[in-house]
Amino acid sequence: MTFELSDRVQTVPPSGIRRFFEIAEERDEVISLGVGEPDFAAPWAARDAAITSLEQGKTSYTANRGKRDLREAIADYVADRFDLGYDPDEEIIVTAGASEAVDLAFRAFVDPGDTVAIAQPSYISYEPGVIFAGGEVLPVPTREEDDFRLTVDGLERAGAADADMLVLCYPNNPTGAIMPAADLEPIADFVREHDLTVLSDEIYAELTYDVDESHSSARKTESSGGEHTSIATLEGMRERTIVFNGFSKAHAMTGLRLGYALGPADAIGAMNKIHQYTMLSAPTTAQYAALEALDSCANDVREMVDQYDRRRQFVLSRFREIGMDVFEAKGAFYCFPEVPEGFTAEEFAEALLREQGVAVVPGDVFGGSGEGHLRVSYATGLEELRQALNRIEAFVDEHA
Ligand code: PMP
Repeated sequence: MTFELSDRVQTVPPSGIRRFFEIAEERDEVISLGVGEPDFAAPWAARDAAITSLEQGKTSYTANRGKRDLREAIADYVADRFDLGYDPDEEIIVTAGASEAVDLAFRAFVDPGDTVAIAQPSYISYEPGVIFAGGEVLPVPTREEDDFRLTVDGLERAGAADADMLVLCYPNNPTGAIMPAADLEPIADFVREHDLTVLSDEIYAELTYDVDESHSSARKTESSGGEHTSIATLEGMRERTIVFNGFSKAHAMTGLRLGYALGPADAIGAMNKIHQYTMLSAPTTAQYAALEALDSCANDVREMVDQYDRRRQFVLSRFREIGMDVFEAKGAFYCFPEVPEGFTAEEFAEALLREQGVAVVPGDVFGGSGEGHLRVSYATGLEELRQALNRIEAFVDEHA
């Protein structure tokens, strides 16, 4: 070995799901419910705008923070959909996926030795991001009996009062949990009391289903549209929160690599300082697609959300018929059933893949109380879901 690897790189284990891809490659006719990306193509109008921009030779860098008209469109969109008010010049940065925004935030705000509390189970990139930035991770487990919502009790039990920062991901990957306003209020109180800052990954904000309105606070207005509440809209939270969002999920644009962060001017300025040296600007072609997506694709988003909801209901009801306990996921495009007794999540997922050719992700890779669960993505056509659930039923009938 010629290169001496940094401690930080060596500390981070390789992705826990890679082995599954290797097994999947050995087998024919695998149905994958393992990936976290839409099965839809981006709306045609967005693709067409990208093509037109190329035809017109728009192949240069943009402003570091992203095209001004796109930042304006983002400001209007988040105001309309989520009651969030951000200045396009100072408080918004367009990034190469929400992933880049998350990484920029850790690097801009975390010093060696700082503690970052992460509500888990959650998306697998936060923990490595904290470690690459030199910080310490404090896992904050959420519980199925709380519908995988974060509670003050959970924060206290984990010792998060002494942390510097809290990472939230609602609607949640991998559980599909949401956090209605009434549940966010006590979290915001805790955050202010203990002077934490918050990174709130809201990339699934458009993807909520069957939200019980009785949970929503009076703060939500007609004009806010969606049922998702951003913690940044709660009192005293805007100045201590960075919100992440992007075009990968709701607009089915994963491969175009476009996301953004919203936050106070000095914080976004610090993130931009890193971004201008490491990325210069987010992909230009994707920025044209994103602008069109915000301008004219709200109906496409609604149609995709309707389809996800139909699939969600189908998958939840099939798991119940099969006799597997499953929590009522209300967001993103995942559900999180419990594995039957006698299996670990990894054993179940591996045997299911080998014997029936259905790929799911064992819940333990997402940390927290994920062990004993499977992440099942329903960002797959209904017919494939039907077949996959039949195979899962056959597997459970044989083994349970
Ligand atoms: N955050 C969450 C919670 C995600 O699930 C994902 C994608 N799986 C991302 C961020 C990354 O999104 P992007 O494609 O915008 O980088």
